Amino acid sequence: MSHFASIAGVPGDPILGLMDAYRADPNPAKLDLGVGVYKDAQGLTPIPWAVKLAEQRLVEDETSKSYIGGHGDALFCSHLSQLVLGADNPLLHQQRAAASQTPGGTGALRLAAEFVAHCLPGRGIWLSDPTWPIHESIFAAAGLRVGHYPYVGADNRLDVEAMIAALQQIPLGDVVLLHACCHNPTGFDLAPRDWKRVLEVVKARELLPLIDFAYQGFGDGLEQDAWAVRLFAAELPELLITSSCSKNFGLYRERTGALLACAANSQKLADVRSQLAALARNLWSTPPAHGAAVVATILADAELRLRWSHELDTMRQRIASLRTGLVEALRPYDLAERFAHIGVQRGMFSYTGLSPQQVQRLRDEFSVYMVGSGRANIAGVDAERLDDLALAFAQLCTRR
Ligand code: PMP
Repeated sequence: MSHFASIAGVPGDPILGLMDAYRADPNPAKLDLGVGVYKDAQGLTPIPWAVKLAEQRLVEDETSKSYIGGHGDALFCSHLSQLVLGADNPLLHQQRAAASQTPGGTGALRLAAEFVAHCLPGRGIWLSDPTWPIHESIFAAAGLRVGHYPYVGADNRLDVEAMIAALQQIPLGDVVLLHACCHNPTGFDLAPRDWKRVLEVVKARELLPLIDFAYQGFGDGLEQDAWAVRLFAAELPELLITSSCSKNFGLYRERTGALLACAANSQKLADVRSQLAALARNLWSTPPAHGAAVVATILADAELRLRWSHELDTMRQRIASLRTGLVEALRPYDLAERFAHIGVQRGMFSYTGLSPQQVQRLRDEFSVYMVGSGRANIAGVDAERLDDLALAFAQLCTRR
């Protein structure tokens, strides 16, 4: 008997398939706007110098590879909590908020999903339509009922009215996932007045927000990007936040992130954290140490921290200038208005508004690779190639 004979294959991640197609394309002028990693002007995903320096110190200073505890590296958790919530946030002093280290933001989301499934049985989770596709599969994998609220209208603009109207219909007590900044895949972020309206609905429907914070520092700055998270933490007794160090520290493969929980009092926080540690025990036992040690080393050292924040500024400014540069490059074709949203969106991703057919043509005729939804990773362009990209867009928009 073959145990595996009846097992069928499943399709791979479409973005990985796109990467394969890009690699196989012999056109030297090809552009990869698909994969979701930051790229510098040379097309590389760099290791920040602050990370390199912290690693050198760790090689010298590390004394043991023994397990770290269920919540991970305590110094990392404490510094990351301060980075997310603000160093002087009263929740931290009152021991009403704390972080549990996880393997990346993905691990934090999975832990949050397990927490809801086990500790809040029957609660559904609501995701923006569209959202990062892995959100869909993570919460489904934990057995949660997954619902959606609209986010972007047919005109490829943020539709706050439709979002609010849908949130008002969510069953009392359900969980709502919100992107703190740099919404993946659209790049459209809520304005402060929109966040305040969402907060009112969250209060009225007694929803539990789960805020996914994967791009702190990639939108408007480390502090600015945390504004909504801190507003919700100040206004609500209970909150979950997933934080990722993949993008802002360039630590992608080191799987570094955390799940932050905010509770009504320190005893409740301890109860929640005991559950998180028990759930994590069954998922990955204890989290990987290296990336968290790097982050803790950087954040605990004034000089390294300053260097890192400058490097992060450079990444953010590059993305911002590529966004405005692309809109300007489209101006000679009278397309600057039509694509003005690219300058307004934040983070690496842009919902360009191109149709799946146009995306296919971009690939076939211009060797420009982006996701079928029309999502482009703006950081994937070299500034010198913006004119080429604008020309390709113009040809798609004028020719049928
Ligand atoms: N949330 C969102 C919205 C993301 O885009 C990503 C990364 N693509 C993550 C979470 C997870 O990041 P990681 O697991 O690599 O830290």
